Amino acid sequence: IVNCRYVRGVGAVQGGAVVVSFTDVTHLEQANQMRRDFVANVSHELRTPLTALMGFIETLRGPAKDDAGARERFLEIMDGEASRMNRLVGDLLSLNRVESEERVRPKEELDLTAQITSTIHSIRPLAQDAGVRLNLEAPDAPVLVMGDADQLRQVFTNLIENAIKYGGSGRRVDIKLIEMERDVAVRGPSARVQVIDHGPGIDPVHLPRLTERFYRADSHRSRELGGTGLGLAIVKHIVNRHRGRLRVESELGQGTTFTVILPR
Ligand code: ADP
Repeated sequence: IVNCRYVRGVGAVQGGAVVVSFTDVTHLEQANQMRRDFVANVSHELRTPLTALMGFIETLRGPAKDDAGARERFLEIMDGEASRMNRLVGDLLSLNRVESEERVRPKEELDLTAQITSTIHSIRPLAQDAGVRLNLEAPDAPVLVMGDADQLRQVFTNLIENAIKYGGSGRRVDIKLIEMERDVAVRGPSARVQVIDHGPGIDPVHLPRLTERFYRADSHRSRELGGTGLGLAIVKHIVNRHRGRLRVESELGQGTTFTVILPR
């Protein structure tokens, strides 16, 4: 009882004596609390764009009814808010899927060099718009791992998009693929994928919590850039499923490096 935060007791009278048995329900209580926090967070995240949409509908029906210019402007904003809700629902579904598949080991063999090259190819237009140069360093030969192609694409996409979004415009993002023969992180041969930006970096107080759902180091910037706060939580579950490791190192004013370590 001494080490439990929550206990449940059941008492009974047996042969003239009172017998009470206690059960440690700390884990159950913590799980319930997490579920309540999650539902509260989701409701809050959905309500913000929803309230904005309802406000604009009201205005379009009333004061802005005959103002064509205002109508166009408001529809543009409403479009943005609806997209935000759509992204959030998409990320919630992804999170749900990756969490439920976390115990199932991926069975396909895939070439990380090809996978990363093609991921970078699809992100390049976004990088160009932000004035960021994507620079890949990888071995010429295939680097084979057991992995889920769609999920690993999502991991690299999320990390590279974050590096573009938060790494400061007009800079370079380096993506490195390194093979290691003996990697203590996974106790055997590994493939390390590093996504390195040269942006403002992340304050060390935030680092341990970055993969929590809805945790944002810079809430204002994340929302402004359309972030859902779920990207790194999704990354963490996918990396866990691959029995890999996710590391982050950051120095203020210097930049941030996310490293995904996958067993080969
Ligand atoms: P979001 O949708 O907000 O981008 P993520 O889960 O992908 O959510 O990231 C969580 C938070 O981590 C972000 O809100 C941001 O504050 C911080 N972050 C992630 N990647 C970087 C980076 N490369 N540089 C600086 N901050 C970052």
